[in-house]
Amino acid sequence: MSRFLNDKLASLEPYTPGEQPKISRLIKLNTNENPYPPSPEVKRALAEMDKDAWRLYPDPQTGEAVEAIADHFGLTPAQVMLGNGSDEILAFAFMAYGQKVYFPEVSYGFYPVFAGLLGGEACQVPMPDLRIDPADYQHNDGMVVLANPNAPTGVELSPEAIESILRANPDQVVLVDEAYVDFGARSSLALLPKYDNLLVVQTFSKSRSLAGMRIGMAMGSEALIEDLNRIKFSFNPYNLSRGAIVAAAAAIRDEAYFETQCGRIIKTRQRFVRAVEALGFPVMTSRANFVFVKTGAGYAERLRARGILVRHWDKEQIRDWIRVTIGTDEDMEQLTAALKEIKQEENDEAGIH
Ligand code: PMP
Repeated sequence: MSRFLNDKLASLEPYTPGEQPKISRLIKLNTNENPYPPSPEVKRALAEMDKDAWRLYPDPQTGEAVEAIADHFGLTPAQVMLGNGSDEILAFAFMAYGQKVYFPEVSYGFYPVFAGLLGGEACQVPMPDLRIDPADYQHNDGMVVLANPNAPTGVELSPEAIESILRANPDQVVLVDEAYVDFGARSSLALLPKYDNLLVVQTFSKSRSLAGMRIGMAMGSEALIEDLNRIKFSFNPYNLSRGAIVAAAAAIRDEAYFETQCGRIIKTRQRFVRAVEALGFPVMTSRANFVFVKTGAGYAERLRARGILVRHWDKEQIRDWIRVTIGTDEDMEQLTAALKEIKQEENDEAGIH
């Protein structure tokens, strides 16, 4: 770092994304990407784009995509905005409402980074059993940010629990980060008509197989969306490329493909959970496209040596766990076989037969 960098940034610990390996032979189950390609309709819409128009800036309102999303969810276009990935939306929300922010201590690693970068007071709520207790989010003196399902545990909070938090924080924004909601969890969108403090954030990166296009969305009251747009238009008005706008609209319209792919991943998850439980590893009940498995120490490295990438954090409470993205059935069979092998190796090393 240079001697010119300001003190706040010099002491900030940036977010560490999961590895994006150059070697494609690896089985990549470390960043919760979708193993299946995006909808054929997305590919067709992109192929049919007028490439000469790329010399022109994109629509700063991202109108085509906003309208398609509003239509899909039964909202008004003024209740929707798009971000360059949902990470950008989260950053806007931390800028807008983040003077003080409550979030679970075991959750998405970007929340403390945004709080640090954007100057907010981060209140990390303890989770003795790795679970979120709604009773811990009743302060009404700072924004509440909850990933639902939570990451990296995959555990879902019920709509009743979310509603109790909304009710207890009438003067604060409650941001529900639904990056993984489409894999069998219940969305809080149904609560929007009742709560003007609810902001729902979703992404096209997981259930719509578009992580590389960087598209996220926020949905809330028209006033909340106006706030976020105020920030966007003070920061980066052209935050979505022409390609991303076209891809987002085509992806949201192809409901049939979306349902089929999510269904496939849920089935694979169920099969994988049964297989790892049969091997004797505890697993958290996941409603996401990943599963949190308690293996004990050392498994992430041993899996990597076998060409399988998973995510592991060297953090006290979750050191014995790995987070495994749900890939294809074949990926998961290979992972299961590797877990079995490693367990056997460990038993042999410990002299257990
Ligand atoms: N929220 C959570 C909980 C996530 O795990 C992720 C993915 N890393 C994101 C938001 C951001 O996803 P994206 O920026 O790709 O939309």
